[in-house]
Amino acid sequence: MRYVMRIENEIKLDYKDVLIRPKRSTLTSRSEVDITRAFSFKDSGQTITSVPIIAANMDGVGTIAMARAFLPHKMLVALHKHYELKVLKKFFESLTHEQAPYVFYTMGIKDTDVERLTALLKIVDEKKIAGICIDVANGYTERFVEFAKRMRDRFPSKILMAGNVVTGEIVEELALAGIDIIKVGIGPGSVCTTRKMTGVGYPQLSAVIECADAAHGIGVRICADGGCQVPGDVAKAFGAGGDFVMIGSMLSGHTESEMKPFQKGGEKYITYYGSSSEDAMLKHSGKIPHYRASEGKSVEVPYKGSVERTLQEILGGLRSACTYVGAQHLKELPKRTTFIRVTQQLNPRYQ
Ligand code: 5GP
Repeated sequence: MRYVMRIENEIKLDYKDVLIRPKRSTLTSRSEVDITRAFSFKDSGQTITSVPIIAANMDGVGTIAMARAFLPHKMLVALHKHYELKVLKKFFESLTHEQAPYVFYTMGIKDTDVERLTALLKIVDEKKIAGICIDVANGYTERFVEFAKRMRDRFPSKILMAGNVVTGEIVEELALAGIDIIKVGIGPGSVCTTRKMTGVGYPQLSAVIECADAAHGIGVRICADGGCQVPGDVAKAFGAGGDFVMIGSMLSGHTESEMKPFQKGGEKYITYYGSSSEDAMLKHSGKIPHYRASEGKSVEVPYKGSVERTLQEILGGLRSACTYVGAQHLKELPKRTTFIRVTQQLNPRYQ
């Protein structure tokens, strides 16, 4: 059979390509808006009521200090993979049973990742680790789906979040594997260079809309991961059907990064780097494997002090977006969202 190159001609969009159309509303103030959501996960059987924004499992973002700042807001954190076990033990044990579902332990799919989790579960009360985030750059491998199934068999009642993917068919496969929350996003991250290095990616707004549609049809949830640069993007991600939204760069540069700011030209900065950037690989494994090009970069972010002010902006922006479209509860935001396209074509450099 002759091979024919396929091109999908349908336009796919990023957050910057749209705005949310205002709608008539009976709400009079942002304070009337409830931005918490309750989810019951059909696979794990767990229920969680949270402000469904997750700090990304990255150095300088998914930190214990960030979790301490997030917990009072009922927001979630996926811890980065690089804490020593004894530090994790102390932290997880300090959580109350109510707080435990707000913190995800993050792992990859290598044997060493499994050994590390096993070692942690030997020293921590199992119930304190309520959520596990299985994080790989490419969620399309058979090995990843098989791993997801094994994790569900081994941990029937833990909240499992896994990704990343960008299309409906793999969302369905991961849902069948028993994943509660499927993480969506390949290439939208601010310090991600996957699209440039590999040519692979999917505009994030469309990925979220399509994956949410697939997931909701079969009763699982998605997390829109990456690409939010301003609070309005977080509102767009929820409006597009994201059940959870994961953010990195907007949370970078704060005291909660657990990094020391450095001085440059009289100003203070903190480095924000991609998890597969050269900086990250050198820091955590001392080398860049010869078969692997870096798919992340580093940026110097002005030091912003405590994350509290930034959280107020993100949460205030989201509440206000709900007010503009008449959504009293965050749950109603997708139903009340109509996007208006504001760009004519995608930037040729995918930004
Ligand atoms: P941001 O909020 O900064 O736009 O995106 C954060 C997300 O970027 C993370 O949750 C993760 O999915 C993705 N990410 C982080 N580091 C890297 C990296 O080095 N390479 C790639 N391809 N993606 C990354």
